[in-house]
Amino acid sequence: ETIGENLRKTVDQFPQREALVSYHQNYRATYEEFYKQTTQVAKALVGLGLSAGERVGVWSTNRYEWVLLQYATARIGVILVNINPAYRTSELIFVINQSEISYIFSSLTFKSSDYKKMILDAKEFCSTLRSEIFFDDNWNDFLEGASSVSDDTLLAFENEVQFDDPVNIQYTSGTTGFPKGVTLSHHNILNNGYFIGVRLKYTENDRVCIPVPFYHCFGMVIGNICCTAHGACMVIPNDSFDAELTLDVVSKERCTSLYGVPTMFIAELAVKNFGDYDLSHLRTGVMAGSVCPPEIMKKVESLMNMKEVSICYGMTETSPVSTQTLIGTPLEKQVSTVGTVQDHLEIKIIDNNGKIVERGVHGELCTRGYSVMLKYWNDPENTKKVIDEGRWMHTGDLAVMDDEGYITISGRIKDLIIRGGENISPKEIEDFLYTYPNILDVQIIGVPSERFGEEVMAWVKIREGYELSESDLLEYCQGKIAHYKIPKYWKFVDEFPMTVSGKVRKVEMRELSVKELG
Ligand code: ATP
Ligand code: MG
Repeated sequence: ETIGENLRKTVDQFPQREALVSYHQNYRATYEEFYKQTTQVAKALVGLGLSAGERVGVWSTNRYEWVLLQYATARIGVILVNINPAYRTSELIFVINQSEISYIFSSLTFKSSDYKKMILDAKEFCSTLRSEIFFDDNWNDFLEGASSVSDDTLLAFENEVQFDDPVNIQYTSGTTGFPKGVTLSHHNILNNGYFIGVRLKYTENDRVCIPVPFYHCFGMVIGNICCTAHGACMVIPNDSFDAELTLDVVSKERCTSLYGVPTMFIAELAVKNFGDYDLSHLRTGVMAGSVCPPEIMKKVESLMNMKEVSICYGMTETSPVSTQTLIGTPLEKQVSTVGTVQDHLEIKIIDNNGKIVERGVHGELCTRGYSVMLKYWNDPENTKKVIDEGRWMHTGDLAVMDDEGYITISGRIKDLIIRGGENISPKEIEDFLYTYPNILDVQIIGVPSERFGEEVMAWVKIREGYELSESDLLEYCQGKIAHYKIPKYWKFVDEFPMTVSGKVRKVEMRELSVKELG
């Protein structure tokens, strides 16, 4: 099945249910209206002279036009390239050229960024780029192009689309290095979105608050595709993350489900009048994207009324979800693991020699099945490095599987700290420090040391209105964790270096720390 066929089925089943709400744009549409609008956008794209397999870029924060474009391109077999709104000219040029984009959709400006200027600057270096369309400028002119395209022409396009055609190119977050153009098919993301929703028990009655960016799988698959596959409603609170507004929208729109990376939930829990928001309709949600601290999970479950919040683990290369907790997963497993392997996928954990390790032993997580990407766009070499001959995707993440099949992610192979021959998992120390009441957020990294190879360093955010010193923390650690795990360096900060999808960039933290420590 293609994404277009799947959407059509949902529309036929629930024409009058709400499909999409964009709170910050004061926009709402039922499934019937939403489908009509995607038809118009699809025709307008055909009107531009696009053919199947061509690439169109979208470089924008979350808004309803983004979603229309996502489904319109899928319906006619055009490949949508999601571009991170935090990118600047040189990164934009890289992406446009790497995936040979012919049209780009964006907004003129956002906050202090002049997207129009950056696109015009980039154009000089991008020979494939024909034209740009701005949601807040010439979008309506673009839509008018639909009138010259007949229903039959559109249908001819739709009939050509195959389930295993590429539908999306998404660049990885760039947490560990330069982003790679993950190429995903209808089959990849439609199945993933569908099965994620099965575990969340989604129905047409669910209303899902999506504050995570669409340019990433979390927003456009776990969010959008998952909703449309189950007839649920996508709710966009804002064009950039705002903890207070998110809570307000959950309350006003009676959302039943809320998404976020851990740092978003941390910020929501810290909102001043947290108790004033009506979160009574919330029943579930998804936390994903990076290590989810058990302390935070417990708070989200007890304070936000999300009795059965689900943790997902995955990566862009796997559409994204490989493991997920189920509704009904025992509480203890729910807060401390990333669940079990997603339906119809395989997982194995291997050692350095590629051999499967015993349960309880840490190793690299590999996965195989419908979710594994087609390829990195125009990059057979890197594709071969991560997908082996047996079609296993090597994730670069360290994990351990218990006797019942529950997986715990212990971090990235690249983030593992090796101090004096001792392997240290940053996550273990982070989880421990989260139990200290005045710590709002904490990240552990390894910094070079002549004596030990690496030393442990903590970056700490203190809860507002509290004070905390290095000696308080040292005292807290003393006797509770092994001496070599106690951070040698402590740094107190207001913010961590982040990717736009809200992930902490440990690479950058290491670079900054190395500079500071000299
Ligand atoms: P790049 O590959 O460009 O360095 P990235 O790996 O951050 O960036 P994504 O595909 O967005 O790009 O993120 C996938 C990674 O996020 C996983 O490989 C894993 O390290 C981490 N991750 C995702 N979900 C979880 C989770 N629930 N627990 C722990 N880690 C997670
Ligand atoms: Mg990665």
